Amino acid sequence: MDRSDPLLPLAEAVARAWGRATGGTPPCSLCGDTGYLSAPDGAWKPLCARPECLARRRIEAMRRKETRSAMTLTAAESDARAELARWFAPRPSLVVMQPTTFCNANCTYCYLPLRRKRLDMPVAVASAVAASLTDLDLDGPGFATEVCWHGGEPLSLGPGAFEQLLLPFEKLRRAGAVRHSIQTNATLIGEDWCDLLARYGFTVGVSIDGPADLNAERVDWSGRAIFDRIIAGIEHLHNARIGFSIIAVVGTAAIGRAAELLDFLAALGPDQIGINIEEFEGINTSRAQPSPADARRFWAAAIEWAQAHPQVEIRELARLGNYLRTIRAGERAAWEAHRLDLLPTVSHHGDVVLLSPELAGMHDERYGDFLAGNVLEQPLGAILARAWQLPYVTEFTAGLTACRATCGFFDFCRGAQAGNRYFENGSFASTETNFCRVSRQELVNALTDTTRKEEP
Ligand code: SF4
Repeated sequence: MDRSDPLLPLAEAVARAWGRATGGTPPCSLCGDTGYLSAPDGAWKPLCARPECLARRRIEAMRRKETRSAMTLTAAESDARAELARWFAPRPSLVVMQPTTFCNANCTYCYLPLRRKRLDMPVAVASAVAASLTDLDLDGPGFATEVCWHGGEPLSLGPGAFEQLLLPFEKLRRAGAVRHSIQTNATLIGEDWCDLLARYGFTVGVSIDGPADLNAERVDWSGRAIFDRIIAGIEHLHNARIGFSIIAVVGTAAIGRAAELLDFLAALGPDQIGINIEEFEGINTSRAQPSPADARRFWAAAIEWAQAHPQVEIRELARLGNYLRTIRAGERAAWEAHRLDLLPTVSHHGDVVLLSPELAGMHDERYGDFLAGNVLEQPLGAILARAWQLPYVTEFTAGLTACRATCGFFDFCRGAQAGNRYFENGSFASTETNFCRVSRQELVNALTDTTRKEEP
């Protein structure tokens, strides 16, 4: 029984009064257990004080409030709400948690404005997110929400403090409703971290951009290269038999060296390699970006490399392959039914931004701080349900609609990143970006080139 629930004193007082009047207590209308009475909606009805029943009643109360406010919406507001529901799933499959703003590295292309400051997440924020996911889990057929710990550098928190943030999720994790992942530069990984990552069933993503010369822009705050420390961290993962994936940022120095890069990354023994062609985002706004022509050659070389190394999965090629297989299997409806994720990112103090983690910590006169809410004040489900009220979210849905109407790559792409539209074009309602050209369009073009070359 959750003794901290604010409904409990009222429920107990009413139950005592009922008991005095009737000589017993009534069964809960949800679980059937003998319990307490309360008066949700002013209508007296049986209510037990089990956390599950209280959570369910909170959800119902929230829904009633939303239904009441929906009845007073203008036509334009109703349209915005319906449009959001068309594009986005009501429940996130991924929640990004920023346990600290601090990063022990100072990569020259990093987009995080607060990475030199140490602002750590209190346990109350993790507890609030776990309670929100409990509410959402009660709300429908269970699937595991990925809770991705993505800093700053999450490991700079230290294993003791980090574990305190994991404990509120334990009931959900053990029930299969939550799984943890972490994105790290791996430089701080030692046996203590391996023990914790294994105990909590983490999926680990390591950021490494290639061999030492391609990794040269990844330095610590003293300007020393972190390459050797990344490799040492990967060794620890291998010794502890913890699988990991790699994410490599490919800039102008690496874009012409696909095969060499992939050879090096594959030799590190990852389960999957993800390629992020360098983006124009956050405070990373002044560096040269690989051109679409460079990207097409890179993807062509990557496809050729992948054909010779079928045992190594490249994330982007796997997604394209999945699309082609699904369409060829006649399952277009399933592919098109897939709705996007609002991608809530929870900052160290509980603020939530949607659509793109890169928007956290940014400010714009039109959109303020991009805040959708704070998990210490409202459950995540309520924050997501009101996303249609945020101008940047409704503008993004307009951009997606324009993509669908105008772009020949939409069927595969489904409309790429909101953050890139904003940082590159200054508008969430825009369509093409350099990011989507180099990461989506030229990937498809490179595959088409390869297929044509292989045709007899
Ligand atoms: S490739 Fe670009 S323009 Fe085309 S659908 Fe994707 S994001 Fe939109």
